Amino acid sequence: MHELGLTMEIVEIAVERAQGRSVKKLRVEVGKLAAVVPDSLRFCFDLCAKGTVLEGAELVLDWVPGRARCGSCGADVFLKVPYGQCTCGHSDLTLLSGHELIVADMEVV
Ligand SMILES: [Zn+2]
Repeated sequence: MHELGLTMEIVEIAVERAQGRSVKKLRVEVGKLAAVVPDSLRFCFDLCAKGTVLEGAELVLDWVPGRARCGSCGADVFLKVPYGQCTCGHSDLTLLSGHELIVADMEVV
C-alpha cells in the first residue's frame, strides 16, 4: 500500500498552502495509472489529516486519464492501464501522464 506515503505528501503540501486556515475541501488530481485505491486514499487522508487544518475536510478526487504518445504515428492514446496499443496497431507508446497525484485546488474557511 503506497497510498500512505502519497497521502502524507499531499497533506503536507496542503497544510503549507493553507497557512493556518481551516481547509473545507481539497481537490486532488489522481492519475488513472498511479494504481491508487480510492478507499485506501480516503482512509489514509483521514488518518494524516487528524490534528491538522485539514481535519474533517472533504477529499475530492479528480481522475486524470493515462495519456501516451504512439512512437509510430505520433497520435495521443488514452490508457486505463499502463500499456496498450495505438489505433494504428503499434504498441510503441511513451507515457505522458497518468501517474500524478497532485493538490489541484482547495477551499479554505
Ligand atoms: Zn499509432
